[in-house]
Amino acid sequence: RFDQARFIPADAIFALTAQYQEDLSPQKVNLGQGTYRDADGRPWVLPSVKKARESLFEQGLNHEYLPIVGLLKFQQATARLVLGAELSAELGIKVATCQSLSGTGALHLAGLLLRACQKSPPKVYIPEPTWSNHHQVFGSLGFPCESFKYYDHERNDMDIESYYSTLERAEPNSVVILHACAHNPTGLDPSEEHWRQIAHLMKARNLFPLFDAAYLGFNSGNLDEDAFAIRLFIGEMNMEAGICVSFAKNMGLYGERVGCFLLANKSKQIAVNTQSMLEMLQRSEVSNPPAFGARIASQILGRDDLKKMWYADMITMSDRIRSMRNALYDHLVSLGAPGAWEHLIRQSGMFGFLGLSLEIVLRLRGLSSIIILTWRVKEKYHIYMADNSRISIAGLNEGNVEYVARSIAQCLQD
Ligand code: PMP
Repeated sequence: RFDQARFIPADAIFALTAQYQEDLSPQKVNLGQGTYRDADGRPWVLPSVKKARESLFEQGLNHEYLPIVGLLKFQQATARLVLGAELSAELGIKVATCQSLSGTGALHLAGLLLRACQKSPPKVYIPEPTWSNHHQVFGSLGFPCESFKYYDHERNDMDIESYYSTLERAEPNSVVILHACAHNPTGLDPSEEHWRQIAHLMKARNLFPLFDAAYLGFNSGNLDEDAFAIRLFIGEMNMEAGICVSFAKNMGLYGERVGCFLLANKSKQIAVNTQSMLEMLQRSEVSNPPAFGARIASQILGRDDLKKMWYADMITMSDRIRSMRNALYDHLVSLGAPGAWEHLIRQSGMFGFLGLSLEIVLRLRGLSSIIILTWRVKEKYHIYMADNSRISIAGLNEGNVEYVARSIAQCLQD
């Protein structure tokens, strides 16, 4: 029965985390997985989350099922948060909502709905590079996926002209995956002017914008700023759009799988129908979503005092990341690390895209047999980053940033 099963290599980033955990060196630095770390390199439970959790326990929790589409208060508060109070009130029930298994689950639900609503799955345009799971989610659902050039490796910058020309010739009715902010992995987002042009081109060809919104508020510390593109497409441009919201990063609720899929529909009648389809699709996938994390998020979004704390928490995280980004840049420049590093400080968000070769990345990891065989390793640096040299800036702190910069400089000078 399973003779035809293929061997699928482990997910690169999860495998890297496992490699890091096995490394016994006290010097080791994990710049792989995108999870926030505090100034001491430890996971951070947001004070707003801690308080919301305490208040939930005081209220007394039960462990009943949630409705199939999830906790209604949480979905409504998410729509208000993402769209802004005015636009969400204006759209009202034109927005279908469904709680999801974090951002990944929201993308998957969006894919299920798009597939169920058309005779054949439309083409999905995905920026290159991107978060690797985009291809897996849409590929596994049978969508033909097409990559388009987002980044120019020679200039270490966004290739906006390529982006426009992809949209100008895209197959009408296709889906385009848009990173709402903090593009993963490049850390480079379109400007407001770019977004306007992207929206115009997409509207002209009837392309469906599917926003991946995994970093709202986490990117700049200001959620309204980070939601600019979403509100532009749906509000100003009056477009149909899907939004896949994750609270993994901005609330630090990675393991609780708290997310929501929002769909801004053209009419109330269509919204009633898509809402009912989401309910059917969710029922056959997970029956109903997990309750605990959604209750925490719902407390935070629904209480002024907690929401205020949460906004301050997002500023704490984004400020620390920004200052580590600047510190890495300053050290690389002052150590004379060969190459130009300005691109690092043009980027924003959790990730930095260094632009190092695979050989240097492996040498920094220092554990690759290929490297050991070449006898080029004089030292093991124990610095772990993705093969494409994307780093999670959150893994840097005052105690390791100079070491990381020095190691990069040494490898490049060798
Ligand atoms: N989209 C992007 C671009 C991401 O970087 C991530 C997390 N790495 C996600 C979606 C989804 O994460 P989660 O399912 O944990 O919310």
